[in-house]
Amino acid sequence: LFLIFWIAMTNAKYCKYKDPKQPLDIRIKDLLNRMTLEEKIGQMVQIDRSVASPEVMKKYFIGSVLSGGGSVPAKEASPETWIKMVNGLQEGALSTRLGIPMLYGIDAVHGNNNVYNATIFPHNIGLGAARQVDMCNAEDPELVKRIGAATALETRATGIPYSFAPCIAVCRDPRWGRCYESYSEDPKIVQEMTEIILGLQGDIPADYPKGFPFVAGDKKVAACAKHYVGDGGTTNGINENNTVISRNGLFSIHMPAYYDSIMKGVATVMISYSSWNGKKMHANRDLVTDYLKNTLQFKGMVISDWEGIDRITSPPHANYSYSIEAAITAGLDMVMIPHNYMEFIDGLTFQVKNKIIPMSRIDDAVMRILRVKFVIGLFEKPFADLSLVHELGSKEHRELAREAVRKSLVLLKNGEADDKPLLPLPKKALKILVAGSHAHNLGFQCGGWTIEWLGTGGNNLTTGTTVLTAIKDAVDPRTKIVYNENPDANFVKSNDFSYAIVVVGEHPYAETSGDSLNLTIPDPGPSTITNVCGAMKCVVVLITGRPVVIQPYLSLIDALVAAWLPGTEGQGVADALFGDYGFTGKLPRTWFKTVEQLPMNIGDPHCDPLFPFGFGLTTEPKMTDLFPMDEKQLSSS
Ligand code: BGC
Repeated sequence: LFLIFWIAMTNAKYCKYKDPKQPLDIRIKDLLNRMTLEEKIGQMVQIDRSVASPEVMKKYFIGSVLSGGGSVPAKEASPETWIKMVNGLQEGALSTRLGIPMLYGIDAVHGNNNVYNATIFPHNIGLGAARQVDMCNAEDPELVKRIGAATALETRATGIPYSFAPCIAVCRDPRWGRCYESYSEDPKIVQEMTEIILGLQGDIPADYPKGFPFVAGDKKVAACAKHYVGDGGTTNGINENNTVISRNGLFSIHMPAYYDSIMKGVATVMISYSSWNGKKMHANRDLVTDYLKNTLQFKGMVISDWEGIDRITSPPHANYSYSIEAAITAGLDMVMIPHNYMEFIDGLTFQVKNKIIPMSRIDDAVMRILRVKFVIGLFEKPFADLSLVHELGSKEHRELAREAVRKSLVLLKNGEADDKPLLPLPKKALKILVAGSHAHNLGFQCGGWTIEWLGTGGNNLTTGTTVLTAIKDAVDPRTKIVYNENPDANFVKSNDFSYAIVVVGEHPYAETSGDSLNLTIPDPGPSTITNVCGAMKCVVVLITGRPVVIQPYLSLIDALVAAWLPGTEGQGVADALFGDYGFTGKLPRTWFKTVEQLPMNIGDPHCDPLFPFGFGLTTEPKMTDLFPMDEKQLSSS
């Protein structure tokens, strides 16, 4: 009797799922077998930080929390503050009966962009433009891999093990407000850029089982390929809308990058708000379960988009029990922000108890969620510490971002003739005019998804270097820089400038707020170009998330550079303008003449672009320079 009692006691204490020496599948099954329905459904819920507390985590067995757009701690919150917040919620999760750690997720889409002082890398469109100089101008997947690794470190520095990135949308229409989150209109480039997953999660071992999520330790984060699938193909680029395309088209344009992501061990996939031929992706069992999970053998976690299941019905939340059934039956595992998580929990519980949704479906969802948590190592190390805090905004990461910026620049025009290029500019000049609303505005430079969801203007949002500051640092100390945000033609003419650099572009936006039918440069951008470039020799640098209307001004402009949304390290722009490095970037998109031509993509038969896909002039780096007339005056001054 004593022996039986002793064995029973030992077994009660020993749980296979807690034993790291046990194989992963045994741990998952052991844990799953111990879970009640309530505990399982709680795992499937991801709530927003603004409604999360240790008590809520405990009461509802919540599986995951996110800092979605706008729900981040105060702007200047230190990494320590972030870690404290994440660890506090983790304590709540761990105090449940089975002590299952929660998973904290964030949109670290161009660096750990919600956090003050983080390195902000160029948005994806810029990375799609970056080319490897020594590899016949091929894309630079190795660069994005390094960016992924740096982003993982900066994200982990704030205690967060999960990022909703990369966006592998193949944007087919620049009128879409998320065009800048897409590497390219070309599926091949997007496929190559999935290399970022290896940076975020780590290099997947050669013998790793196909389709399994992979995360290489606590300096890496779980990635999320999003938004599955066809998000970049909606009609007229309208966000969250309908993608009308044949199955062949969907599979040849929008699907390939998912295949690559899964081969690279991506831990999670996020479902798109959009519909495919009228069917909401959040309710598409054919593509989520049959194709992604069964055919592609994806064994990670499928997560909804924010309130994504609520939008299955029109208007949203109209018939919530239908939405729950449709989404969970389609194959969604974790639900990001059901508009009312208690209603979701009650609704799903009812459907399982009444056998509308089979228990096997819930078990599949929970197994996948647990698998990701085990793979991340959350059971062994649920709490974050301060050991990576020094990584946030580090010198190395800022250098890497600077490198990415200069490689992402696409030189679209350079003087009237090949033998009379304007760029690179000499560092020694008498007086340079720097003009334009975007020359000295870090917020504009970073664009959306920076500190705030929609982004914001100004120089206080975070730390970094504007293009103006970078120009001042780059030129000879004797060169005078005159900054005027929006000069009139008289000002330009009455000063004796050597030349002008005009930096204009779009104002920050994200998602639907960025949808645009006209793609014009906002005021006063066009008049700044006209006033300055109409009066003197000028370089125009465009800070935009996509091609914009530029043809009407092109004849006035002497040199034109697409700088996309470069992020915090404006020095990358000055590096190429003044010839420390050559221009090497190539258009990852076709540049239209007029918006009436849209959509217009690589391979379209009657395409008559302003600049074709892949276009980009190059320059050689140069060591010394002088405008001859300026030299005389400089030395006499
Ligand atoms: C976006 C996703 C994002 C999520 C969480 C949604 O609105 O579509 O890309 O990951 O919010 O912030």
